Amino acid sequence: METTPPQADAGIPRLELENLTVGFRKKPVLSGISLGVRPGELLVLAGPNGSGKTTLLKTIGGILSPLAGRVLLDGRDTALMGKREKAGQISLLFQGTSPGWPFTVQELIAQGRFPYRGIFGAEHPGDQKAVAQAITAAGLLGFEDRPVTELSGGEFQRVLIARAMAQEAKLLLLDEPANTLDPKYQLMVMTLLRSITGTGAGALVSLHDLNLARLYADRIILIGNGTIAALGPPPEVLRKEIIGRVFDLPPDTPFTW
Ligand code: ADP
Repeated sequence: METTPPQADAGIPRLELENLTVGFRKKPVLSGISLGVRPGELLVLAGPNGSGKTTLLKTIGGILSPLAGRVLLDGRDTALMGKREKAGQISLLFQGTSPGWPFTVQELIAQGRFPYRGIFGAEHPGDQKAVAQAITAAGLLGFEDRPVTELSGGEFQRVLIARAMAQEAKLLLLDEPANTLDPKYQLMVMTLLRSITGTGAGALVSLHDLNLARLYADRIILIGNGTIAALGPPPEVLRKEIIGRVFDLPPDTPFTW
């Protein structure tokens, strides 16, 4: 008898937000957020400072609870998933998350594999391979034994992305991964992200640099005034009237995106 390969993912978004409201102590920061991130899609989150990008990413990642609405991962409500299961499927990368401890590069990347380990912390058969592949892809060969506290910002950012790669998560949530990096590292980080989404993961990435967004995003979600201001492919969203309105730019601002 012929067997059909499993098609669990067919048509189901990696991430789906259903009428989500996010905020603090019942004070909404963003409301009416509905969108889907498809497998393999890189969705860039853009918007002015303080518009709610970090709050949204933290809510999707389970660090904050939604004030209303639902977050679905592969069709399943994340509120009903255990902490460990969520940690295995969602990779979070926030700014300034340097560990105070001088782990080596190899050790920090290997932490991406923790969700796969049994209750006694035994190695999973794929662990070493996943870590080695991530080190190579992130251009970190030769850095394995360096303490992460002694790396430059760009090197450390690549270590964090390599950890996300080793984790083989289905969804990546990254807050300003390209911030403070020089152009070479910015491009490297974005290329790495594209190679991770190439394996079928979805990524929601906040970026301030609209040129990077134009180059690397499949779609851009622009937030402003407490909700979605625009959502679509870069040429649809990066339009003078939209960007000018959302970022409150003077009319004579040269439009460079
Ligand atoms: P962005 O990432 O777009 O710069 P944030 O999500 O950090 O914006 O912030 C959105 C809003 O939520 C801002 O008005 C900010 O002051 C507020 N905010 C952020 N963190 C907290 C907090 N812990 N408690 C209350 N309000 C907060």
